[in-house]
Amino acid sequence: MREIYADVIIDISHEAIDRVFQYIIPEKLEGDVTVGCQVNIPFGRGNSMRKGYVIGISEKAEYDRNRIKPIASVCTDGVAVESRLLSLAGWIKERYGSTMIAAIQTVMPVKKTVKSVVTRYVVLKVDDIDSCEYRYLKKNAKAKLRLIRALKNRDVIPMSEVTGKLAVSSQAVKAMENEGVIEVTESSSYRRVTTDSMENADDREEIILNDIQRKIADEFCSDIDNGIRKTYLLHGVTGSGKTEVYVRCIRKVIEEGRQAIVLIPEIALTYQTVRYFTRYFGDRVTFVNSKLSSGEKYDQFERAKKGEVDVVIGPRSALFTPFERLGLIVIDEEHEGSYKSDNPPKYHARDVALERARVEGASVILGSATPSIESYSRAMAGEFRLWTMNNRAADRPLAQTSIVDLREELRRGNRSIISDELALDIADRLQKKEQVMLFINKRGYNSFVFCRSCGESVKCPHCDVSLAKHIDRNPHGRLICHYCGYSIPEPTVCPSCGSKLIGGYGAGTEKVEQEVNRLFPEARTLRMDRDTTSKKNSHEQILESFGRGEADILIGTQMIVKGHDFANVTLVGILLADLTLFNGDYRSGERTFDLLTQAAGRAGRGDKPGKVLIQTYKPDNYAIVAAADQDYDMFYKTEEAYRSFMRYPPAWNMLVIMAVGGDEEQLANIMDRMYSLIRGKYINEKKLSLVGPSDPAISKIKDMYRKVLYIKHQDYDVLVDIKDSVENWLRDIDESGVNVFFDFNPMNMY
Ligand code: ADP
Ligand code: ZN
Ligand code: ZN
Repeated sequence: MREIYADVIIDISHEAIDRVFQYIIPEKLEGDVTVGCQVNIPFGRGNSMRKGYVIGISEKAEYDRNRIKPIASVCTDGVAVESRLLSLAGWIKERYGSTMIAAIQTVMPVKKTVKSVVTRYVVLKVDDIDSCEYRYLKKNAKAKLRLIRALKNRDVIPMSEVTGKLAVSSQAVKAMENEGVIEVTESSSYRRVTTDSMENADDREEIILNDIQRKIADEFCSDIDNGIRKTYLLHGVTGSGKTEVYVRCIRKVIEEGRQAIVLIPEIALTYQTVRYFTRYFGDRVTFVNSKLSSGEKYDQFERAKKGEVDVVIGPRSALFTPFERLGLIVIDEEHEGSYKSDNPPKYHARDVALERARVEGASVILGSATPSIESYSRAMAGEFRLWTMNNRAADRPLAQTSIVDLREELRRGNRSIISDELALDIADRLQKKEQVMLFINKRGYNSFVFCRSCGESVKCPHCDVSLAKHIDRNPHGRLICHYCGYSIPEPTVCPSCGSKLIGGYGAGTEKVEQEVNRLFPEARTLRMDRDTTSKKNSHEQILESFGRGEADILIGTQMIVKGHDFANVTLVGILLADLTLFNGDYRSGERTFDLLTQAAGRAGRGDKPGKVLIQTYKPDNYAIVAAADQDYDMFYKTEEAYRSFMRYPPAWNMLVIMAVGGDEEQLANIMDRMYSLIRGKYINEKKLSLVGPSDPAISKIKDMYRKVLYIKHQDYDVLVDIKDSVENWLRDIDESGVNVFFDFNPMNMY
């Protein structure tokens, strides 16, 4: 008898069972069990039912036939993984280190089917409506009369209106149905996520490409015509019209019957991006993100699978949209840290996009005003085609920039966060009825509470980080831990030394708003940070309101610096440019340069020229100087040389292995053994740098201890090999209570 077997990955993320288990496909399920589908299977000693994914089907038993159990059933509410996404999951597991099930879950942003929305309608069934009306009138059946009269003018009325506005009870509807007068019908539809204001974009005339945009779009189109698929790096200054280039390239692939994914780095950019794209592609555009309900998300992926949309816009998880014929992946602001996943597998969307595009024969466009050092060096090496746009579209000049030295300001006795020059400029813009954006890279009232007698800050007892001060809910203020939520009332004396010289240090968005209100009581302000944007659509509301001119000054964190386009903004103030410089991270120079350049790009987007004012305690730092000069090449050369010299990515590759556990001793012991394992195995690898085990900057979170190993080598594959050895070793020792994570080329230091 011929028998068929399925290779199944069990839906439990644990190293010890991170392998394939074979099951028999019973005859009655043949045909239903396909690669990628979710199945129920007996697992473990008790044969309790578990879920799993079929990742392969074969006719050969790999184990003793009598010990292989049969699949119980195919999950009815499970979403199947597309086979191409399944192999992408395998690639992700291999390259970033995680269990297979975690990798499968990564490529499946929606794991369960969600019922579609059903709308019910009342439909008229009789021809002789007048005699019906007469009958109800005679019986004085008021509700029925209301419905029949409403149906005189309209054949179909939604049930919500019948029971709502018309106030007809469901019993009355039922009775009329039984009398054969009406019929209740149903229709199901996809959940719509785009709002009216996104879709009814002003129908202004189609933009005429300028010469450089035309040249780039033409090159892309002719590459497509010639069957060339590759990766392009579009380096365009802020306002150079990169979006317009994306649109034209996407239009080309749609003409070829293919689809496109557009990745954006921030939820806050969804509104304006979708709006821009619907102007060209109408309702063939949709978006996904974490603010959607699971039903809304599920429906968007279904529409993509069925070919009902051509463009999906979203954060890094949109990369796994199950398009049948993917033609192009656009990654806007490709340098952004949000493209790297925080959870294992800690994949980078840029690399995964390149891999998916390679396998599926699609092109990739990476766009940025400040390309990552990684991408730019690959472009320099000829691996990516470099496109450069040095001027703003429609020939508007770049904003004028000026640096204010805060040390000088302090010496002159100005202790405000607003320097004299900035205050003068703000007053000038208010008087001219132009708008201002103020950017501070911190949220909360003050960043943390600090004692000027002993130098201690007030810390979280569980997380080893300073508590942040909030005044939203309570006039006396509370201190909150951003990692675990621990909170206490703000102390009036220092918990360490008893001094009364305790208070706020640094500045956050709320403090800036207060200061602005004090200096300019007549100015209308809006604040945008994580605290004011926690609700669905709150981003859009704040931005729309500012766009309509309902406020003079928008104060915010990095959320406000990316991409937003407000024609009436002629002044951008960066209140403390240094804040990103001091986090002890090899990318901090790059991050500072990016933020300042992006922020500068917000000024003067309309007809009026813009000005950018950078306040700093370090006016000589190369990242700040380069940003003020808007000189990417200068920045790139300095930064690239520093990375090579220090053996940081991209010149070298880096792997961080982090272990987390509740028992400090056990954790230290495992990390020491892991160190010896790697040392021993790679003793002849002269070019391997192995540092640790050491305490990360935050050595305890929620009472769990953390330790890290830093490993560097030029060759990524050597690091993958080390990861594999560590994984195998962990499986053998099966030490419970300690979790190990891998992070290749991390975006943050630990
Ligand atoms: P970027 O993403 O490069 O910062 P955008 O794509 O947001 O820039 O474009 C900036 C502004 O320039 C937008 O308002 C856009 O509509 C406009 N724009 C783009 N291309 C042209 C063009 N060829 N002519 C006129 N305006 C353009
Ligand atoms: Zn103190
Ligand atoms: Zn905490």
